[in-house]
Amino acid sequence: MTPEQLRNLVRSVPDFPVPGVLFRDITTLISHAEGLRAAVGHLVDRARASGAQAIAGMEARGFIFGAAVAIELGVGFIPVRKPGKLPVPTVGIDYQLEYGSDRLEVDPTAILPGQKVAIVDDLIATGGTALAAAELLRKVGGVVDQALFVIDLPDLGGAERLRSANVGVDALMS
Ligand code: 5GP
Repeated sequence: MTPEQLRNLVRSVPDFPVPGVLFRDITTLISHAEGLRAAVGHLVDRARASGAQAIAGMEARGFIFGAAVAIELGVGFIPVRKPGKLPVPTVGIDYQLEYGSDRLEVDPTAILPGQKVAIVDDLIATGGTALAAAELLRKVGGVVDQALFVIDLPDLGGAERLRSANVGVDALMS
């Protein structure tokens, strides 16, 4: 399936998680066998072209695509987790949301110094999550110059924010 065909497998849900937001739901894409395989395949092609030596994915939907891409590419997967989930000392980063703040944590021993890590997530909106993940992975020694998404919401400017931080951005659909 082409990225254009995959677009039809994304479900749009109005007023989730709050009124006025049109949520792009990938549940319908990942439950479609051919769609899931194709989406992962397109992400793998792009990750391979970028020379990624490891894949990092953000909890939770980034785990679905990120782990699949890592397996296909033959590299390790680094989970970027919500606070308090990892059983070992972590390195974390706090970042601002529209209302309030959030935090991401990683096991610093999961990354080798200078290792080229590509970020994978389902969707980029404002880019806050991916930018925080990139900063965190850099803080623990990773070289982060590529972030891959199934969906980019370009009106929210996330891709631009990442590019300003020298992270290349690629998405299967906008
Ligand atoms: P950002 O930090 O770029 O504003 O938001 C992106 C993060 O929020 C991603 O981890 C993504 O999973 C989640 N997210 C925000 N909006 C949506 C949406 O409409 N659909 C999906 N599937 N995830 C979203």
